[in-house]
Amino acid sequence: MRATDILKAIQKLSPAEKHRLREYLIDALTASSSTGTVLQEITERKNKSGYHCPDCESEHIVRYGTYSTIVEGEEVEKQRYRCKACKKTFTDLTNTALYRTRRLNKWFKFIECMIEGYSLRKSAELVEGVSHVTLFYWRHKLLASLKQMEISNFEGIVEMDETYFLYSEKGQRKIKDRKPRKRGGSAKKRGISNEQVCVLVARDREKMTFSQTLGMGRLTKEQLDKAIGHKLSSENVLCTDSWRAFKTYATEKGMDIYQFKSDGKVRTKGLYHIQNVNNYHRRLKGWIQRFNGVATKYLNNYLTWFQVLESIQHQRNSVTMKDLMIKGNLIQNMETYDTIRFSSFTT
Ligand SMILES: [Zn+2]
Repeated sequence: MRATDILKAIQKLSPAEKHRLREYLIDALTASSSTGTVLQEITERKNKSGYHCPDCESEHIVRYGTYSTIVEGEEVEKQRYRCKACKKTFTDLTNTALYRTRRLNKWFKFIECMIEGYSLRKSAELVEGVSHVTLFYWRHKLLASLKQMEISNFEGIVEMDETYFLYSEKGQRKIKDRKPRKRGGSAKKRGISNEQVCVLVARDREKMTFSQTLGMGRLTKEQLDKAIGHKLSSENVLCTDSWRAFKTYATEKGMDIYQFKSDGKVRTKGLYHIQNVNNYHRRLKGWIQRFNGVATKYLNNYLTWFQVLESIQHQRNSVTMKDLMIKGNLIQNMETYDTIRFSSFTT
């Protein structure tokens, strides 16, 4: 059979059969992207300007024996280092999400579940031999690293809009002051109250995106400045909804601003509109529904998760999986199961 015949045959498949074929091809192709090369790349990119100590930053580093880890079911020896200044030993994975994980090959399956946005239960079925509790930890450890990735400054036109999520203490066992609300419950007060968490999404036309919680209740210009003031200059032109804090902020900073009513009607002034950011909100809200409510203290992690998925256009293939695996392990991250579990929402 020739390639053209195969292509013709594919066109005749039903959508469900095409989906199965796609899954098959992704698995067949990603199997060859070995964890070994990923580890090699993490090592090279982390140490691109030479070795330095993760603890005291000293560059006086010596090789100090090896440790073993499982790569694709086989035990391999990896280098351990020692800092001559503080005498501490470390590896290329010290303080990263992968540190002390002897199941590196499981990480690929886990990353796949992250890209698909599967629940912990479903992920635990797919990542065999890893409990959903461990996967919860992996998820938030990875997201805590990805959250630290710095975005560049915004260029040109910047669309901004805030959206609100109901405050939630989902999963918290001892709730003192308030009665637990049912999942997806609605706020008691009409409009925007202090029970709602303000999430700002700002996006320029190069798709540089900021999405984070700013605090409880209506957005203020102080919150706006603290969150993204350093990414903006008077060269930027803001497109926002009609909330006055945006106007006051732009005027003080000497930026031009175009404001649009957010009543669902499409409004544009030529190039100026907030359609991209409104569409982003819509996709975000649609995607996050699958989790049946997110505890507010984890909301920024979920916002980061969605932002990463948007940047890879929700595509799962060997390139995006490897990319996520490397990015998630380049940044130092001291989170432990306990620091994640017992964190609280702060603004
Ligand atoms: Zn040191």
